[in-house]
Amino acid sequence: MKKIILATKNPGKLHEFRSLSTGYPWVVLSLKDFPALPAVPETGTTFRENARLKAVSAAEKTGLVALADDSGLVVDYLGGLPGVHSARFAGEGATDQKNNEKLLKMLDGVPGHQRTARFCCTIAVAEPSGQVEYCEGFCEGQILTEARGTNGFGYDPLFFLPEWGKTMAQLSLGEKNLVSHRGKAFKAVLPILEKILSKSV
Ligand code: IMP
Repeated sequence: MKKIILATKNPGKLHEFRSLSTGYPWVVLSLKDFPALPAVPETGTTFRENARLKAVSAAEKTGLVALADDSGLVVDYLGGLPGVHSARFAGEGATDQKNNEKLLKMLDGVPGHQRTARFCCTIAVAEPSGQVEYCEGFCEGQILTEARGTNGFGYDPLFFLPEWGKTMAQLSLGEKNLVSHRGKAFKAVLPILEKILSKSV
């Protein structure tokens, strides 16, 4: 079986991608299998740039086909914020709770129909040769005025999915993977990987 690397230390992402990869002819390693690899600073101004930085670095350093994702929340009323700053919206090392509090404060008094938002995910697939391809996934919703639900992470308790009548934090992991930006982007990556790995010997 060919080996590929998902350039993440996040066990949730690894578990999700491994389960989607069931039945495909590759084994998914992660950064935990290469502890000496240095962290890659996410200095890009777009999800695509950050995903590319992480994937290209992992492919160069391991010699494997490498995948990396970058994701975040885009709120229309805030001109796209928090965007690539989603993890550190309330400051470097901010907790999910602090980030959610800041988001609620910035949307204080904004009516429901202007609270539209989407989760975005870009995955870069890099070959050791330097060739890179991209996949994207989106999930549309609205930002509530208070948290609901305890599953998931990040902005999930504030992110309402009108077609489910629930927040992302009220979905099971299986349900979230069906609708989430990351689940959709991961699925779109599978045929790209099949194509790349079938041409390498
Ligand atoms: P990263 O791509 O793992 O670096 O995610 C960046 C940040 O975006 C996370 O720290 C969260 O704040 C936010 N985010 C990304 N995906 C999700 C999600 O599925 N639910 C909630 N928040 C998310």
